[in-house]
Amino acid sequence: IPVDPFDLVIFGGTGDLARRKILPGLYNRYLAGQMPDEARIIGAARAELDEDGYRQMVAQSIEEFVPAQKRDAAVIDSFLQRVHYLRIDARGTDGWEDLARMIRKDVVQAFYFSVAPSLFGDLAERLHAHGISGPESRIVVEKPFGHDLKSARALNATLAAHFDESQIYRIDHYLGKETVQNLMAVRFANILFEPLWNARHVDHVQITVAETVGVGGRGQYYDQSGAMRDMVQNHLMQLLCLIAMEPPYRFDPDAVRDEKLKVIRALQPVRPDDIVRGQYRAGKGPDGTPQPSYLDDVGNPDSRTESFIAMRVEIANWRWKGTPFYLRTGKKLRARASEIAVVFKEVPHSIFGDDEGWRENVLSIRLQPNEGMTLSVMIKEPGPGGMRLTEVPLDMTFAEALGADGQDIPDAYERLIMDVIRGNQTLFMRGDEVEAAWAWTDPIIAGWEARGDRPRPYDPGSSGPEDALMLLHRDGRRWREIR
Ligand code: NAD
Repeated sequence: IPVDPFDLVIFGGTGDLARRKILPGLYNRYLAGQMPDEARIIGAARAELDEDGYRQMVAQSIEEFVPAQKRDAAVIDSFLQRVHYLRIDARGTDGWEDLARMIRKDVVQAFYFSVAPSLFGDLAERLHAHGISGPESRIVVEKPFGHDLKSARALNATLAAHFDESQIYRIDHYLGKETVQNLMAVRFANILFEPLWNARHVDHVQITVAETVGVGGRGQYYDQSGAMRDMVQNHLMQLLCLIAMEPPYRFDPDAVRDEKLKVIRALQPVRPDDIVRGQYRAGKGPDGTPQPSYLDDVGNPDSRTESFIAMRVEIANWRWKGTPFYLRTGKKLRARASEIAVVFKEVPHSIFGDDEGWRENVLSIRLQPNEGMTLSVMIKEPGPGGMRLTEVPLDMTFAEALGADGQDIPDAYERLIMDVIRGNQTLFMRGDEVEAAWAWTDPIIAGWEARGDRPRPYDPGSSGPEDALMLLHRDGRRWREIR
């Protein structure tokens, strides 16, 4: 179903994110027939480019980041007719009058702030001062949303000076993933899971977001941030909320976000013993080539920033008291794999004896690769060998259902941008949610800084530091394999 006609201005339209995600995503939606012909995309950045130059850049990014089977010369050409460019200076006066003339008042207006957060305030102010944005306009802001509670509050206040909360779309692209939304469908559209979805039946939950890459070219930024700020405070926290929240009374933006907020507020402070931080050492790549250490990558031999973190988190409410949530994320790990695993408890009494192959039921929600869900259930091993149990996966992987290799699953960014145009905030973070997440994160970080803790080294290509394994072993549990 096509969305309403719109003008989408991408501030930072020549940047890395625009080229890799936003522009290819918009092309895909155009190809899918979701973008009406009256839609316009206006790249706005500092570069000296004319419209043709920008269209060439967009064409290149489609060439580079859209799979070949989706590239159709005629469609690309027609898409490019919808693309425009304006040279604009977020901190100065250049370009703003032109933008004011260009923007149509009778279509949806969206402004994507794909620039450094230090420019958000300048953009918000100028959009307002030049009469470009109105009460219906939407702004989209990228991560990081603040560095701590104080800066997040300041950022919220800056945006709130010119925009109502209902106009602000804070992106967390994890929420745009098909599986994450499917998780809500599975939880709230089936009677099967809800009665079991609590501390009486769930032994524990594991959330893993593992990357194989190091900090790459983002070293300087990353070293100021670390895994806790870069991943846990936002992405892992959002995943935890969707697993732990109470059923919202309706699938409505504020109803969903109210429930997520309650979860964040119920998070307990984390004890120092329940956190393991790590930093990757130098090592060898799969082909034997030497790879630099984290310290080399960020060019800071004294850095105490973590490129890995594992933690045991508790939620103090009736539903979850007694069920730990183990979170883990890191760089240069064994595989690129993100998974939420809900591990159920043992049966109260085994009628089959002790050692008949019994394993706990696990609902595994896989975000990448191969988005999908599986529920492991125990059955009898087929054949005449007596009553031996075996585990089989009930596969809810929908890539196959949706088309070869999941190619037809829209990328998170595509979906989220279309949600902005539709005016649906359900999958975007509300200001109070972000602040509550920082309010929980800040004292944890302050704790390890005050103690002067150093992250433990770990080998590239491993599952993180040994101590991270202990976090579960001492509770009689084990991490699921990263693969
Ligand atoms: P980038 O450095 O590649 O691009 C920055 C863009 O901002 C360029 O188009 C540049 O022309 C423009 N710009 C800079 N100063 C300007 C000014 N004064 N006036 C107007 N335009 C100006 O950055 P990026 O990697 O594309 O990241 C953009 C935003 O997205 C950042 O907030 C970043 O944290 C966030 N983000 C990026 C990624 C990613 O993968 N690149 C992922 C998540 C979040």
